[in-house]
Parts: sequence; structure tokens; C-alpha cells
Amino acid sequence: MAEQKERTFIAIKPDGVQRGIIGEVIKRFETKGFKLVAMKMQHASEDLLTQHYLDLKDRPFFPTLMKYMSSGPVVAMVWEGKGVVKTGRVMLGETNPADSKPGTIRGDFCIDVSKNIIHGSDSVENDELVHYTSCAASWLY
Ligand code: UDP
Ligand code: MG
Repeated sequence: MAEQKERTFIAIKPDGVQRGIIGEVIKRFETKGFKLVAMKMQHASEDLLTQHYLDLKDRPFFPTLMKYMSSGPVVAMVWEGKGVVKTGRVMLGETNPADSKPGTIRGDFCIDVSKNIIHGSDSVENDELVHYTSCAASWLY
């Protein structure tokens, strides 16, 4: 049971929002069978972004990344399901869209690493979010 409650943080970046890819991303996670447990549109502050990308602060692309992520609102979501962290990363594709296979989100909808439209966690996150039982659960597990 606990494994079905694994959660990942997925965010559609400002370019994905502006280019109208929100619905496509939601559709892919939803039709896969994962469960949406939280969603919020937010213009991320510099403090939040610095915290979010703390491990990248010494990389040469960090200032460009901050500017990009501050350029408009993002759609932050939490998705739940068995193996959702790993499977979510597979659905996103590689960090560089040029290395992403067709059929992945980055492989299908973007070209450049500096505008790769979506974020996905690479580890299991702790949360204090709503829990509910989906009526589809018994058809998926
Ligand atoms: N990024 C970039 N240039 C690079 C590597 C990364 O602009 O050479 C940006 C890109 O938006 C990426 C984000 O920094 O999604 C975070 O990098 P990370 O290595 O964590 O990749 P991710 O986990 O997003 O695939
Ligand atoms: Mg990362």
C-alpha cells in the first residue's frame, strides 16, 4: 500500500506555461494512471528558486537558469503513484531535449537545454499534502 503513495514534484516551467503545454503534461501523467494530489500556479520568488536549485548554484548556467525560471508563472504539481519519481523522470526525458527520445515530454515539445519546459524531482519528497483514495486505485493496482 505505502508504495502506491510515493509522490513527486513536477513543475511546468515558464516556457511550458507560455507555450500552452500545461494540458499535455497533465494528460500524460493522468492517463498513465498517476494521481494529482496538488496543483498551484505561482510566480516563483528568487528565494524559492535559489533554495530549489541550491545544488546548481556554482554552475555557469545558474544566473541564466534563475532568469528563465523567474520569467513568468510556473505550474507546480504533486503526482502520486507506485514508482512515480523514477517513471516521472522517464516521462520527462533527459535534461537536454537533444538527448531525449521522441515520446518523452522534452523529446516531443522542446529543443534547447536552457528552455526544457518541465521540472521533475529525482528523489522521493516528504510532504504535508492531502491524501485521498482515487476510485481508479483498484483498477490500477
Ligand atoms: N540547465 C541548463 N543548462 C545545463 C544544465 C541544466 O540550463 O547545462 C537547467 C535546465 O533547465 C535543467 C535545470 O538547469 O532542467 C536543472 O538541472 P538538472 O541537472 O537538475 O536537470 P533536471 O533534473 O531538470 O533534468
Ligand atoms: Mg534536477
